[in-house]
Amino acid sequence: MGLNLRKAHVYEKVGKRQEMQLVAENHIVRIRCSEGGPLFVQSGQVYSEGGDVIKPIPAWFWPEYEKVSPEMRKIVGLALPSDVTAKAGPLTEKPALPIPTKDCPECGKEVKKASFGLHVARHRKADKVS
Ligand SMILES: [Zn+2]
Repeated sequence: MGLNLRKAHVYEKVGKRQEMQLVAENHIVRIRCSEGGPLFVQSGQVYSEGGDVIKPIPAWFWPEYEKVSPEMRKIVGLALPSDVTAKAGPLTEKPALPIPTKDCPECGKEVKKASFGLHVARHRKADKVS
């Protein structure tokens, strides 16, 4: 699937100021800087103006693409390399999960859920003794 510039470029002149407004759903991000471009991002691919898939993606592209809002990056389906490594990175250690606790109605202490029953039982025992 090539770059769908035809559908993507559904801009319309709107209002008295003749502002161009994107009216199509087919989102495309245009990236350009002094080092090159324009390049177009659509459906997770980077294309040249001619519609060819750009590979490898030039280094200048990423800092420019980073300026695009995360929402828009999601819409055009291309993540930043830093996003990708964060997702695909090796999970050697699982992050420590917070231990579920319950507040003891007797003493107000935070007690581990796993030992909550035992904790409460101790209170009961103590009550009987006193
Ligand atoms: Zn308690």
